[in-house]
Amino acid sequence: MNRNQTIQQFNNLSILLQPFMKPISEIFPLLDKPRKVVITFHQKPDADAMGSGLGLYHFLIQLGHSVTVISPTNWPAFLSWMPAGKKVIDFEMQTEKANTFLKDAEWIFCLDFNVLNRAKKMEPVLASSSAVKILIDHHEQPQVEAFDYGISDAAKSSTSEMVFDFIVESGNSEKINTDVAECLYAGVMTDTGSFRFNSTSASVHRMIAELKDKGLQHSQIHENLFDNFLEGRFRFFGNILLNRMEVFYEYNTALIAIPQSDLIKYNVKTGDTEGLVNFPLSIKGIKLAAVVIDRGDERKSSFRSKGGFDVNTFARKYFNGGGHFNAAGGKNLETLDEVIKKFKEAIKENKEQLTS
Ligand code: 5GP
Ligand code: MN
Repeated sequence: MNRNQTIQQFNNLSILLQPFMKPISEIFPLLDKPRKVVITFHQKPDADAMGSGLGLYHFLIQLGHSVTVISPTNWPAFLSWMPAGKKVIDFEMQTEKANTFLKDAEWIFCLDFNVLNRAKKMEPVLASSSAVKILIDHHEQPQVEAFDYGISDAAKSSTSEMVFDFIVESGNSEKINTDVAECLYAGVMTDTGSFRFNSTSASVHRMIAELKDKGLQHSQIHENLFDNFLEGRFRFFGNILLNRMEVFYEYNTALIAIPQSDLIKYNVKTGDTEGLVNFPLSIKGIKLAAVVIDRGDERKSSFRSKGGFDVNTFARKYFNGGGHFNAAGGKNLETLDEVIKKFKEAIKENKEQLTS
């Protein structure tokens, strides 16, 4: 058994031992009665957060539920094409409206995050809500006491795959229409790096085959997500790769640190930095790639690794974050220079794991 499998077995065991959260299957018999439902996901949602949220929305409305999707923050423009994307409420921009729905909600689905602080300013609202909270998520170490029902499975490729399973296992496969299919495809395709990562199991491919059988036009979704950027993003990338990337070959590590002045100079919008971390990761020999961005209120980091280096633990230990074994993130309140210093010390401490 390799290291990833050992960790997976531990995770499976911890799913069984979770004392608080009731299994998601206990929700299935309750789905027939229409309810007021809110669906939310992590701040600055990516295609998996938004796709799983809207995929679930298009399923639940067919059962007669009143469903509102609320994002804790804004989201990249390249996600707005999703069916019903225009109905999503931005908690920060429309707080009063969002709070009305949150106050009335009987059920709150929490997707693609597993600790309430990932909901940013919505955290206290979620924590104090008396609604039934249902978790569907694939990150490590869930805050199980915060949820009433749920499923947490770090072996799953994406939350979108888990929403697909939720629909199928609740006996509602026939409700997967093209709206559901487009949203879920966007999530599973992006979270698997276009079906490249190890998490791309045979069941992921079977799921996509089923979505194709339902009429999914997949190439249009790739275009919507990847061919919709403005020229400025690539000028920004050019500057970053030339001036802001440091490679530490003795640690098989590369770091990109972006000052806030670059974001202003190149008019960088939400989502423009997505994918940047993959450039240093594709340098020969690099096992750990990091991007730290000074967003003004915090220094946000992204970590990616190849092979046996666990960035979930790394992000938790040094950067107040978490995520998956090979993809994680964090946030710090220290200055950018202090975070860079911390990163350099952290890779020194982890030299053995990075070079073995
Ligand atoms: P990204 O680098 O794409 O923002 O995030 C990579 C993975 O780490 C995602 O699955 C994301 O949900 C998780 N992640 C990113 N930032 C944080 C954070 O601050 N805290 C936690 N717990 N997870 C994070
Ligand atoms: Mn995800």
